[in-house]
Amino acid sequence: MYDFAYQKPGSVADAVKALGADPEAKALAGGQTFIPVLKQRLNKPSVVVDLAKAGLSGITATATTLTIGATTTHAAIAASAEVQAKIPGLAEMASWIGDVAVRHRGTMGGSLANNDPAACYPAAVLALGATITTDRRSIAADDFFQGMFTTALHPDEIITAIAFPVPEKSAYEKFRNPASRYAIVGVFVAKGPAGVRVAITGAGQGGVFRHAAMEQALAKSFSAEAIAGITTPAEGLNGDIHASAEYRAHLIGVMAKRALAKAK
Ligand SMILES: Cc1cc2nc3c(=O)[nH]c(=O)nc-3n(C[C@H](O)[C@H](O)[C@H](O)COP(=O)(O)OP(=O)(O)OC[C@H]3O[C@@H](n4cnc5c(N)ncnc54)[C@H](O)[C@@H]3O)c2cc1C
Repeated sequence: MYDFAYQKPGSVADAVKALGADPEAKALAGGQTFIPVLKQRLNKPSVVVDLAKAGLSGITATATTLTIGATTTHAAIAASAEVQAKIPGLAEMASWIGDVAVRHRGTMGGSLANNDPAACYPAAVLALGATITTDRRSIAADDFFQGMFTTALHPDEIITAIAFPVPEKSAYEKFRNPASRYAIVGVFVAKGPAGVRVAITGAGQGGVFRHAAMEQALAKSFSAEAIAGITTPAEGLNGDIHASAEYRAHLIGVMAKRALAKAK
């Protein structure tokens, strides 16, 4: 680890000010990605701006929208009665992330800002047509994810909350890496205000993506049977020590059918 200054501002405005004052300043949320990166000396921030006291944790719900504060932990999302009732697949997704320690430190905002190609939340955000709110604007899910570890965020921009339209039906299935629990392939299916949408994580070289062929079939019938004949080409998918591109292509169909079979 290199030396750095540390600040823990008491508001979003002060956090944005601290980040804007120095191009080498970086935000810290749960630290589950950021701290290992610092330890490995892969990042050299001048100032670490801890968001823990910026007032960004909490979950609120109306009949049509579930809003999750950026620093809300995976454990809080998994345990929330509101999330379990309104978007059960999102609560289940949170309960499967990493291990107990990761779930009690890691946050939704940190995961989305990081946009790891194997992270789970990007699939839920994209499939549900969520809106990412920052200190200065609202960004539609379709515009937010811009490739592996790349998002629409400016360097000094802070995610404050994520608003999910409550779907009619949805679910997530993941074929997990047995060591880390990251998605080798994860599929979130949703039928709701944003339409019928299917988002795939873990498989794409550019990160999370929507599956147009499945969406077209599911718009006619939101069932596992409707996608029985759909295969996914392996071209452009990740192949690594964990799984080949062909295996991931196969898993997309299997995970999608499992998600559809349990969607509620
Ligand atoms: C062992 C292990 C297993 C894991 N398994 C899974 C898994 O199964 N599925 C999964 O999806 N994830 C998994 N993760 C990732 C983890 O859940 C965290 O979500 C992720 O590390 C980032 O969240 P964080 O809150 O820790 O962010 P941090 O590590 O603190 O920050 C990550 C990045 O986001 C930026 N950032 C943080 N918050 C904000 C904000 N509000 N606005 C703007 N930028 C911000 C930081 O500057 C940094 O660049 C795993 C992690 C570990 C260590």
